[in-house]
Amino acid sequence: MVLGSYHRFYPAAGTPAAGAGETVLLRDGCNRPVSYLRVSVTDRCNLRCRYCVAGELFDFIPCAGILRYEEIVRVVRALAPVGIDKVRLTGGEPLVRRGLPRLVAMLRQIDGIRDVGLTTNGVLFAECGRELRDAGLTRVNISLDTLRRDRFAELTRRDFFSRAMAGIDAAVELGFDPVKINVVAMRGVNDDELVDFVRFGRDRGVEVRFIEYMPVGQGTGWQEASFISAAEIRDRLAAACGPLEPAPPEFSGGPARIWRVTDGGVRIGFISALSDHFCDRCNRVRITADGRLRPCLLEDTEYDLRGLLRAPGVTDAAIRELFFQGLASKPAGHGMSCNAPRKCQRPMSSIGG
Ligand code: SAM
Repeated sequence: MVLGSYHRFYPAAGTPAAGAGETVLLRDGCNRPVSYLRVSVTDRCNLRCRYCVAGELFDFIPCAGILRYEEIVRVVRALAPVGIDKVRLTGGEPLVRRGLPRLVAMLRQIDGIRDVGLTTNGVLFAECGRELRDAGLTRVNISLDTLRRDRFAELTRRDFFSRAMAGIDAAVELGFDPVKINVVAMRGVNDDELVDFVRFGRDRGVEVRFIEYMPVGQGTGWQEASFISAAEIRDRLAAACGPLEPAPPEFSGGPARIWRVTDGGVRIGFISALSDHFCDRCNRVRITADGRLRPCLLEDTEYDLRGLLRAPGVTDAAIRELFFQGLASKPAGHGMSCNAPRKCQRPMSSIGG
């Protein structure tokens, strides 16, 4: 088996593969293996989180511009032979798109796809979690930035706190393990709840992950003053809960660095996208809601996958080649920091986070 980047090994479309019986696996231009595809299935959402979308009015992508489920399945089927084995469905809010269990089931039927996960705000999960699990969903991450109903309504511009909590309960009851709770930590917004979240994780048996607030999208009001680094969160938790120690990394090789409260063993994840990049172990590639291949979350370089998919007579080899070419341009690191200029204008809701 040959492991190679596009430059070194991947032949142009229509030419024979690396050699008879050999498989070329997807790698980026820095030779990092790419095995994880994140797909934004819609840019619509039933919340309007202030840090994610600029306001109430929002120019949604027209329906015809959103990838059809069959198109998503086609891409995954083309990529599974070159090493994509894990897919995550995100959005917008993926559960507002009709028929998601059908997509999950189709993806799970693809040879080589061992893991289909979902990132959701949980608001609709109590209603459709069982159907999703039965369709083959393997993992659920639920985003929740506050444990207070009034604050939830203020932050998300919607009064759906009880529904989001019911979604978390449903995920636990349905046996997803671990259920991960994503909390974007923001100074002056929810940083008085850091310890409450650790307790919540312990009491509900879910894994809380604190995500650094990123300057993404236009008009979402990110300010350096709202940013809290993972190190500061750890210091504040240690002061309140006792010492923290690094725990073994996630089996799935995810971006979170896991720490454990020494007294009691609660595991807490930290996604330090700004203060301590994990780009060197990035194994992912994204498809936006409008069908653009996006090699790096925080860089606006994209490739027109939808146009290719809708061109007459397109082959699986051509789809693969677009990924090899796009990934060849993936930067070694996103270079974003608190002080660096914003390189990501597209809203998180159409990239998928
Ligand atoms: N609607 C789903 C959800 O709420 O999980 C999926 C899409 S949402 C865009 C994916 C993740 O991105 C959420 O955990 C959200 O909190 C996170 N997110 C959005 N904007 C962010 C920002 N500026 N910085 C850090 N995380 C952000």
